[in-house]
Amino acid sequence: MGEEKPSHGGLGSLVSGVREVFESGRTREMEWRKAQLRGLIRLLTEEEEEIFDVLREDLGKHRGESFRDEVGVLVKSVRNTLNNLEKWAAPEKADTPLVSFPATAMVVPEPLGVVLIFSCWNLPLGLALEPLSGALAAGNAVVVKPSELSPSTAAFLAANIPRYLDAKAVKVVQGGPEVGEELMEHRWDKVLFTGSARVGRIIMKKAAEHLTPVALELGGKCPCIVDWLDSKRDSQIAVNRITGAKWSTCAGQACIAIDYLLVQEQFAPILIELLKSTVQRFFTKPENMARILNEKRFHRLTSLLEDQRVASSIVHGGHGDPNTLSIEPTVLLNPPLDSDIMTDEIFGPLLPIITVKKTEDSIAFLKSKPKPLAIYAFTNDEKLKQRIIAETSSGSVTFNDAIVQYGLDSVPFGGVGQSGFGQYHGKYSFELFSNRKAVLKRSFLIEFMFRYPPWDEYKVGM
Ligand code: NAD
Repeated sequence: MGEEKPSHGGLGSLVSGVREVFESGRTREMEWRKAQLRGLIRLLTEEEEEIFDVLREDLGKHRGESFRDEVGVLVKSVRNTLNNLEKWAAPEKADTPLVSFPATAMVVPEPLGVVLIFSCWNLPLGLALEPLSGALAAGNAVVVKPSELSPSTAAFLAANIPRYLDAKAVKVVQGGPEVGEELMEHRWDKVLFTGSARVGRIIMKKAAEHLTPVALELGGKCPCIVDWLDSKRDSQIAVNRITGAKWSTCAGQACIAIDYLLVQEQFAPILIELLKSTVQRFFTKPENMARILNEKRFHRLTSLLEDQRVASSIVHGGHGDPNTLSIEPTVLLNPPLDSDIMTDEIFGPLLPIITVKKTEDSIAFLKSKPKPLAIYAFTNDEKLKQRIIAETSSGSVTFNDAIVQYGLDSVPFGGVGQSGFGQYHGKYSFELFSNRKAVLKRSFLIEFMFRYPPWDEYKVGM
């Protein structure tokens, strides 16, 4: 095993303390793992009110949104892990070739060791606890570094994780980039990072020094194709779901938020009218939408609209209030493709609509862009669905809804290409934080001498 570098402040001893706990073997025990998962469920249910408070402080999230996107989805996920853990952790029998007869082979999952989790501020509870539950289920000791940009949630995690989980095996380290960099000086057995590609590169470089495997959960622009939908009812349902996914999940500050729509020309005016009326129905009070994280992010978003060519494409909204850090749900029609709003990830409540001659043309458009975390399409056309699955690449594809794939425990969550790598959620989290150890047992019953030299003719068939 590699040596720890000399202690930096208190972090060196914190990291070696966590490693000592792992080396003691207690985190491997099935009962310990289950106790941690039960502890997480208790934390989420007993502290629910405080969770709602800190999410409101950090991001202005309504308790309805906080329950739907963070507490509710997490409790469901941890329960699913608890219910399936023994099955996932059980050795799996594997085939053996006749030539090794008699033998048995197995794949035995084992914990990796000490895991470091970096979480992001937009889903500050979920992006810390979802991977944490997987790492604990797999029998690891864990250090969590929440984002300093959601300080109330970070402080909540630091105060409550030791109360509900094994305080020696699970640590929360608060701080900003300097603390993140300091943590990366140490040797970890796995690092899961959620955040920007810029910092992802720094993490990966640092991890290479210790040959530490990493999972990078990054972002990008998630496109959404909206096909001509014949029925009025289907069109309204589609727009409800687009409106909910774009503006009611942290005001569009979500890695899998719809970044822009691709729509057939003739459908655009109808779609814009539907979006306007639905936004008015959903966002009746300011507190129904989260706010922008901070002033810096607010100015980044409003500056996207300052480009004259972009400003003239606004068809709804466009105003922001720096005092409340809120920006109206904003819809734009055909902003130039070379403007920042169409080249950078938006991560906010601005929704460009890009028109195409035929819906099918969207596929070529998607293929010309980096692989996104998610592709969405609202359509009843089975052929189009099939073409999107077969011809494009992304972490996930969701038809006739958006964002909800995050809540499924049965499918992997993660990116591909520029949107990252390493998949988690449900069984995929258990696998991400486990080593699948190959175990072969042979017996002394039979011995074939033809496997050894000397290579006489009768052995090699010459
Ligand atoms: P960021 O990349 O600036 O920060 C993420 C984490 O890294 C924080 O904990 C931060 O303290 C730490 N950090 C920052 N600089 C560091 C350094 N030099 N060394 C070590 N650690 C450092 O986060 P951001 O840019 O605000 O996040 C937004 C991005 O995250 C968007 O691109 C979004 O799509 C993506 N994201 C992805 C997911 C996902 O699940 N794939 C979820 C949420 C956000």
